[in-house]
Amino acid sequence: MPSPVDDAARRAGALLTVDLGAIAANWRSLRDAGRAGGRSVECAAVLKADAYGTGATVVGPRLAAEGCRHFFVAHLDEGIALRRALPELPIYVLNGLLAGTEGDFIEHGLTPVLNHLGQLNAWRSTAQRFNRPLDAVIHFDTGMHRLGFGADEAQTLIDERGRLRGLRLALLMSHLVVAEEPANPINGEQLSRFRSFVRAMPGAPASFANSSGVFLGSDYHFDLLRPGAALYGINPQPGSPNPMAPTVTLNARILQTRRIDALQTVGYGAAWRSARPSRVATIALGYADGYFRILVNRTHVHLAGHKVPVIGRISMDLVTIDATDVPEADCQPGAMVEVLGAHMTVDDLADCARTNAYEVMTALGRRYARIHVDGQEPVV
Ligand SMILES: *Cc1c(COP(=O)(O)O)cnc(C)c1O
Repeated sequence: MPSPVDDAARRAGALLTVDLGAIAANWRSLRDAGRAGGRSVECAAVLKADAYGTGATVVGPRLAAEGCRHFFVAHLDEGIALRRALPELPIYVLNGLLAGTEGDFIEHGLTPVLNHLGQLNAWRSTAQRFNRPLDAVIHFDTGMHRLGFGADEAQTLIDERGRLRGLRLALLMSHLVVAEEPANPINGEQLSRFRSFVRAMPGAPASFANSSGVFLGSDYHFDLLRPGAALYGINPQPGSPNPMAPTVTLNARILQTRRIDALQTVGYGAAWRSARPSRVATIALGYADGYFRILVNRTHVHLAGHKVPVIGRISMDLVTIDATDVPEADCQPGAMVEVLGAHMTVDDLADCARTNAYEVMTALGRRYARIHVDGQEPVV
């Protein structure tokens, strides 16, 4: 009997393969970068947006098995879903504490990142109401100006430590604005603001570095690294060779091929016209799968070792490629073309789409058959 994995692959128009072993290896190398400073820096994992499209409930337990002890998500519901897969370890909800959701945090054993005094007050009341010491994570805004305690609110907290009564100060955190630009002075300005805050709130561990922040050096590491992107293979140092292992491959099947004469158009809007007699292959993915419309005339796929241009408009469910130069035997319906993989990384595709690899990964469609492997082994 075929395995469920083989069965999914047999039916799939497009197949997304996530290598958990590669994600685990990336986590280890980030953890080791933290340890290289000689202090006992720990490494968390950011699993928001379904672990950047790779599957949070599968990635979370794999990283826990590797030794990861702290997990971050953005939304409460992401935390609830992850809690089922990770019964024990702390899960922090970055978007904070929405009024009326305190009971959900308690029920699922989740910890809100407290982004302002109002949230801190509500969490302290919750601790009183449930009569238990709850973990408090304080996010201090050092320059992003999205979420977090502003300078005035932070000073209030420093002056009035009683505001933490009934809570256990579990973590102080802040978030870098331009960590991928090591020479940008904003990094140092944020660092000195965060340092002052941490000094004024002694006794609690601190977390500052996202993926790129890990590579700014040990001054930026504090007690807990907080990488997302680099875990999933996105280059944390744009412009330099990528130190991370790639974690996703995406293959899409050829559904049909056809020969067309010169001066024929392909696809909606008659937007592409053949300059010569051509062979067009139609493959099973589209913008509904996160293959952005802007990619037309800007990227290629790989088929049997050949680089094949994407032509014509990208449709909701279909993409057309100019396979004229591929031997016919390699270009048959049912064959898989490589959309992401050894020849085209998520960073490469992001460049083609004039965006970043974060958007490419988090846009990966829900229609792909998803297979998780660990090295060569399928994970069931
Ligand atoms: C998304 C996020 C991270 C992870 O950032 P990467 O650049 O993906 O490593 C860390 N901290 C906060 C607050 C975030 O929102």
